[in-house]
Amino acid sequence: QDGQSSRPAGGAKRQKKIAVLTSGGDSAGMNAAVRAVVRQGIARGCQTFIIREGWEGLVRGNTADITPAATPATFKNGSDPSSPNLKPLKSSSVSFASLPPSKQLELQRADDKLASIEAGAPHAFSYTNPEEVMPLSAAPLSFGYGELLKDGAGEADENALADAQRGGLGARVADAREPKGKTLKGKYIVRVGWDDVRGWLGEGGTLIGSSRCPSFRTKEGRLQAAHNLISFGIDCLAVCGGDGSLTGADKLRGEWPELVEELHKNGKIDDDQRDAYQHLNIVGLVGSIDNDMACTDMTIGALTALHRICESIDSISSTASSHSRAFVIEVMGRHCGWLALLAGIATGADYVFIPEDPPKADDWETEMCDLLQSHRLVGKRKSIVIVAEGALDRHLKPIKSEYVKSVLVDRLGLDTRVTTLGHTQRGGKPCAMDRILPTLQGVQAVQALLEATPETPSYMIGIQENKIIKVPLLEAVAQTQAVATAIENKDFAKAMSYRDSEFKEMLQAFRISSSLDIKDHVPEKQRLRIGIIHVGAPAGGMNAATRQAVRFCHNRGHLPIGIHNGFEGLLDDNVTELSWLRVDTWTTRGGSELGTNRTLPSEDLGQVAAGFQRHSLDALLIIGGFEAYHSVMIMEQARAAYPSFQIPMIHLPATISNNVPLSDFSLGSDTSLNALVEACDAIKQSAAASRNRVFVVETQGGQSGYIATLGALAVGAVLVYTPEDGISLKLLQEDVEFMRRRYELDPKGRSEGRLVIRSEKSSSIYSTEILTKIMKEEGKELFDARSASLGHTLQGGVPSPLDRTRAARLSLRCMQFLEQHATPNAQHVRGKRTYSSATAVMIAIRGSQIVYATMEEALKCTDMKLRKGTDEWWGDLKQLAEMMGGRTGLVKN
Ligand code: ATP
Repeated sequence: QDGQSSRPAGGAKRQKKIAVLTSGGDSAGMNAAVRAVVRQGIARGCQTFIIREGWEGLVRGNTADITPAATPATFKNGSDPSSPNLKPLKSSSVSFASLPPSKQLELQRADDKLASIEAGAPHAFSYTNPEEVMPLSAAPLSFGYGELLKDGAGEADENALADAQRGGLGARVADAREPKGKTLKGKYIVRVGWDDVRGWLGEGGTLIGSSRCPSFRTKEGRLQAAHNLISFGIDCLAVCGGDGSLTGADKLRGEWPELVEELHKNGKIDDDQRDAYQHLNIVGLVGSIDNDMACTDMTIGALTALHRICESIDSISSTASSHSRAFVIEVMGRHCGWLALLAGIATGADYVFIPEDPPKADDWETEMCDLLQSHRLVGKRKSIVIVAEGALDRHLKPIKSEYVKSVLVDRLGLDTRVTTLGHTQRGGKPCAMDRILPTLQGVQAVQALLEATPETPSYMIGIQENKIIKVPLLEAVAQTQAVATAIENKDFAKAMSYRDSEFKEMLQAFRISSSLDIKDHVPEKQRLRIGIIHVGAPAGGMNAATRQAVRFCHNRGHLPIGIHNGFEGLLDDNVTELSWLRVDTWTTRGGSELGTNRTLPSEDLGQVAAGFQRHSLDALLIIGGFEAYHSVMIMEQARAAYPSFQIPMIHLPATISNNVPLSDFSLGSDTSLNALVEACDAIKQSAAASRNRVFVVETQGGQSGYIATLGALAVGAVLVYTPEDGISLKLLQEDVEFMRRRYELDPKGRSEGRLVIRSEKSSSIYSTEILTKIMKEEGKELFDARSASLGHTLQGGVPSPLDRTRAARLSLRCMQFLEQHATPNAQHVRGKRTYSSATAVMIAIRGSQIVYATMEEALKCTDMKLRKGTDEWWGDLKQLAEMMGGRTGLVKN
């Protein structure tokens, strides 16, 4: 037995040992989840382990004499054809006993010190419960490196040493996974330290490896896995994978008492071990690019996959347009059309095929061709059809891309190509949200593990209504599988009913935006003239929202009136009707195609009202940030004096600062976060190359620290300054002290670059320049400091898929609101009119709900002086970002 089961003498409470593994198909963001579990685990006083290659690694453990249990004979030598990097084990790994005495002593000391910290003791950190925040007493140890380096050095493993010299301990685990063609040393369960997971946020896939493990499906395999866990004294397991991996996790936990008994009976564990490991705590994190898990709004990796798909389709679109071609694009998604549908909306595709909602008509070929033909007839030069890999017709016959192509060629004579995106969808750097959400979920996973009792079920950590939640794992898996069953039974209504309301609204938004059919037109006398205006600074998603609004109008027979250059444009009479084709490519465009500026209607209320009258506006959609919100407020208050304003008007928040009250998110804030991540990744590379350089990065955001805070979480900044918390001399002193201590902990000659993020309005005195100078001065021989200002780059170029799809959904809701409340010919109604404050509103995302708030309601949550909301859901995340960066553990508050 080579694990070092830690059973402290004297009956002291056993220190928790948490292991984390990734299993099934890889997905971007898994590394962020592993990093969060490891760091939060250490912060909570636990020992942390990674298990390489998923369940396979757990079954194999660290000893060579393990024959992978019940591996089917076809898998020669225990290797799994689906995981070619899993070579048969040859050499034996080095057990604790065989380490040199000095190494043993070092590890023993580490264990003793850690063992003195009781799991769950008051040094624990919980971002949900800030009172618990206490400094980490064992900081230097916690910040040390895990066994990986020690063992690598101890074993004189050339690869580990070479990697150490290259720097980047984070990379070492991954490199050790496949040591340059050499056979793995059979070390699948590895103790890791704080810095072993450094730099993992930005890495795609999973650095600790994943595999499909047939043997874990057998009882023998799980028995072996249980033995390995007990050998290492691991009593908590976090599993990041799809529904299969999580089913396996629940199975292991369900069988645990039985497995422990059997191991004891077979003499594999002794009495003490049997008594000590009666219970295994398990938690699941959903890593899957398909976003197919029930009970969570978003799986880890799905958004990044959507990024990859959109990048590809955006590129294909330009060539398709140039040659007037059709493209049939196949994307992943066996039982879930989320990727196909959202990609369809985000890229402005013409048609999508998804498994849970097959075409209504048996003759879908004609339906599709008619639709594409109608687009061509109004002048569209390209046709994009997206097919989910699991797409079916109503009779469960697969709809294949090649067949779709042949239909387009034969019936429409279109020059058609097929592109199967395949594994490009999985790869690449995680997008901002696939760094942030797994981090929050990893933290919650540790919390769930530490709170678990034999009576509590295994939980799955997910996100619902913008909150990290835990739901019984089995329930989530069962609901997920119910979708597949409903599809198999051709009960598509049921399959759709399992999808959340967002999915259904997205489908509706897509259909409306793609249809040119007049069958949905409202009767002539109900048709409206709807004004659309952008106000404030440009933000990603403004154009996508406008496109959806225009398409809605055409779908329903209303007239979309574009007001260019904000209220100034209205005063200049810069107003045009917007055609269906004109907005076709707007989903993918950044900035504001209509033109925007910050002028408020109060500039000349009379003339603005006259403009409304001149253009006979029956309703108004106003897209923008705080100025747009303020504009609705001004016009609403002026309704008594100016009857032209007595029309329904709705504000759709769009600003990178995310400072509009009430709404959790505004359009553009995700694009901006991604722009920040991209810039910071590049800066970090430079900082890392210069070894000991601190970069102070300044972000925009006005009086809101949203971008800075979420950005810090996404890029792994060690410090973050926001206008909400400000900067004081005391804080600066602590931060400098933290930086020095942190650099002192870096191995000699191998210091790392680090990021500090400062929101532009954090302090009028301690500017970015001064902060940088202080850091430079105080860093002395330990570190150097430089600054970088991201400025307007944060407005982003191409809007992120999340902003594009959110824009479509919110815009559709806005237009439905306007249609419901507007009266045709509103500007020509004579006599006294009645109007209600309920018709001048803003639309807000509150969790997974979309709400319409009156100006009065919104005002209650507004700080007009600071131009921001007063209920910031992300307030606590600054603390979490700094905890993940290590500050919480190194500063004595
Ligand atoms: P993806 O969504 O990418 O397919 P997944 O986790 O669903 O991810 P699977 O291949 O279904 O991928 O499962 C991964 C591994 O989890 C399997 O190789 C197996 O080791 C384990 N596993 C899956 N289902 C079970 C089960 N019913 N019982 C025990 N173990 C299972």
